Amino acid sequence: MYFYEVAILRSPLNNLTYQSENKIEIGTKVLIKLRQRKVLDEAVIIKEVEEPTFKCSDINEITNEFYDEKMLQISSFVSQYYVCSLGEALSVYNAFDKNINKIEIEEKFDSKIVLSPLQEKAKEFLKEKKQALLFANTGAGKTEIYIKSIEEHLNLDEQAVLLMPEISLTPQMQKRLEKVFGKSVAIWHSKITKKKKVEILKGLQEGSIKLIAGARSALFLPYSNLGVIVVDEENDDSYKSDSKPRFHTKDLAIYIAKKFELQLILGSATVSTSSFHKIPFFRLDETYHKTKKLYSFEDSDANLSPKIIDKIDKTLKSNNQVIVFLPTRANFKYQICTTCGKSVECPFCSVSMSLHKNDLALKCHYCGYTQKIPDSCPSCNSGIIHNLRVGTAQIEEELKLIFPAKTIKRFDRDEIKTDNQLKTVLNDFNDGKIDILVGTQMLSKGHDYHNVKLAVVLGIDSVLNMNSYKAREKALSLLIQIAGRSGRSGEGEVIIQTKNQEFFNHYLNESNYLEFLEEELEFRKDFYPPFLKLAKIIFSHSNGLKVKDEMDFYVKLFKENKDIEVVGFGQSPIFKMSNKYRYEILLRSSNIKALLQALHSVQTANAIIDMDTIY
Ligand SMILES: [Zn+2]
Ligand SMILES: [Zn+2]
Repeated sequence: MYFYEVAILRSPLNNLTYQSENKIEIGTKVLIKLRQRKVLDEAVIIKEVEEPTFKCSDINEITNEFYDEKMLQISSFVSQYYVCSLGEALSVYNAFDKNINKIEIEEKFDSKIVLSPLQEKAKEFLKEKKQALLFANTGAGKTEIYIKSIEEHLNLDEQAVLLMPEISLTPQMQKRLEKVFGKSVAIWHSKITKKKKVEILKGLQEGSIKLIAGARSALFLPYSNLGVIVVDEENDDSYKSDSKPRFHTKDLAIYIAKKFELQLILGSATVSTSSFHKIPFFRLDETYHKTKKLYSFEDSDANLSPKIIDKIDKTLKSNNQVIVFLPTRANFKYQICTTCGKSVECPFCSVSMSLHKNDLALKCHYCGYTQKIPDSCPSCNSGIIHNLRVGTAQIEEELKLIFPAKTIKRFDRDEIKTDNQLKTVLNDFNDGKIDILVGTQMLSKGHDYHNVKLAVVLGIDSVLNMNSYKAREKALSLLIQIAGRSGRSGEGEVIIQTKNQEFFNHYLNESNYLEFLEEELEFRKDFYPPFLKLAKIIFSHSNGLKVKDEMDFYVKLFKENKDIEVVGFGQSPIFKMSNKYRYEILLRSSNIKALLQALHSVQTANAIIDMDTIY
């Protein structure tokens, strides 16, 4: 009889010991039965152990799937650093299949892309440094450098992965990659079908697929010979997973590249302060298509001020297109009573309900609860409800009244729910069938709008005033990205509604972004990442008293620990979510080991642990 320690996939349990009459290879996926469970669970053989003193259950089935040594090592790191079980860490991976064999396919690629001397220099720098940052102005041609670098690795018979925020995986990008790599490239994201996934996994292991372009989960595929990881828009927060394991894809890519000596290219026009601090960078500051940009500011509180309407009108009259950005979707984010001052809140979450006029409803953006629009204030039963903080739907509506002959479409999560809807709107916009596109962050991501001559940016101050140490970086990078959508060819104009003109005006100039990063590092020194580590623990349960007690217990414990600092604790900004009360502790330390030890000491099922929290 053989005895094995196994990690149970998707389970918070620690590793358990099982037995089998078969000699099983480390990393093999097996099926086991847990006590009190009716179905079999998937588990992974971690190591062979001595016969234990207690009685073990049998392994029920040995599958053909397995996790290789690298996957096991990376998962072990993830479980330590991001504080989860090994089974949870392993569950982000798609395993290898023993039944799929590599087929020898001799194929060389020739992109025929000719780089400019500066691009060539950048490519050489990235190669020589092995792990480096491509700090490229908007339109400076970083994608060509990615493609050339990837091509080199593929021609050495290595594999490549190009990571992008999900929203940037556009049809345009796909076409561009397919033009060079043909059937050797596959697109991987959360919305592709199961059948397609099986196909891609097979192709990747057989060797017919050599390049995966995808969202964060693309990092966790069965690569047998990965040569290069490219992380595009490396400053994007969507790389941080918001469910367990709460890893940051970019940080993990850095870890993997260093550990296994792979090439790593992090690229962005607005590189993150943290990468800038720790990775050597190359500044690609020439602009491919000569563009001229005109910035103007508007400090009026009216969203569509006469000045803004006038600019939109002029742009449309000269047969050009307009994009309008707002950070908020729906019609209005808050409903406040003018008599008692209370806002209309979701009964299950302590957040304001958003007004969706089209659906004649108030919706909670956190739990999805929907109710009809009340005639009067639900708190005092008499007050009139006043709408605050305008959203995309409202601006769309107002623009339709002002420009009735024009076609105006919305570009946000309420309107764009599928891949097809995304493709349709983008195609229609580029074909000139839409005059004004009103949208959220979705607008800012890598889409090429050829005929946009005016970008209107509303509500950017609400991003700048966010309660986060990263607020300045977020607001500025967002604004630069949106501004970059206007005037891709030729001249473009950007009008920004803000009370912080001085800040934005100086740093909007891309040649000043380096200065911003240096200032930002100075500002964060001694208090914030990347100089210190921040971690958040949220205690969440329907019994509020219980989780408050739990928080109090750990606050007391952590305060006795001289190596870590309790920065703050108390009710979470959103105190109630989906009927669960939430308390949190924010910890800070320059001693990673001590911080991790503290996090691992939290022994309650109600705790959510977020290492390197971004808020
Ligand atoms: Zn009221
Ligand atoms: Zn809710």
